[in-house]
Amino acid sequence: MGADNLLDSVKYLIVSRIVTNNPADYLRDLGVQATAQRLSVWRAVSRRPHLTADDVVEVAEADLGTISRQAVYDALSVLVEKGALRRIQPVGSPARYETRVNDNHHHLICRACGRLVDVDCAVGDVPCLTAADDQGFEIDEAEVVYWGRCPSCVSEGRAPTAFDSPARRRRDADAREARLA
Ligand SMILES: [Zn+2]
Ligand SMILES: [Zn+2]
Repeated sequence: MGADNLLDSVKYLIVSRIVTNNPADYLRDLGVQATAQRLSVWRAVSRRPHLTADDVVEVAEADLGTISRQAVYDALSVLVEKGALRRIQPVGSPARYETRVNDNHHHLICRACGRLVDVDCAVGDVPCLTAADDQGFEIDEAEVVYWGRCPSCVSEGRAPTAFDSPARRRRDADAREARLA
């Protein structure tokens, strides 16, 4: 890990500590009205990163007693829109949410069990933004997803089944072409 990377991680820890202690202030600073429902949704994601919307519904229900699925979806979309949450949408897997925003980190996803973990940017700040050939585009974001199998699935010999795979992507593409033909 380079010095810049380490500094970023330390900054992230400090900021997240402040934010976790005062989520209402944090949301207000971002221009979000801090309703009980939005706070509950944000706290659910902050305690357990990479939750799906369905997971958030469960946690928020346990927290508030009652909350509609639609209210959770609405809260998630406002929080994403205002930058309080980041939405990750891996191909072939439901969207996940996290509070670790603005640091251009990437994700590792296990094809067998669906486990998803953070991985820091490859080297230094945002080198992923330096495309081999940018074709004249002004690039401001790179989204990298590393697919594979997690250590426990590898050691237990679990097959990559439940999630997106190159084979499945090819099948889907073939099916689309067949429909168009
Ligand atoms: Zn796994
Ligand atoms: Zn993440």
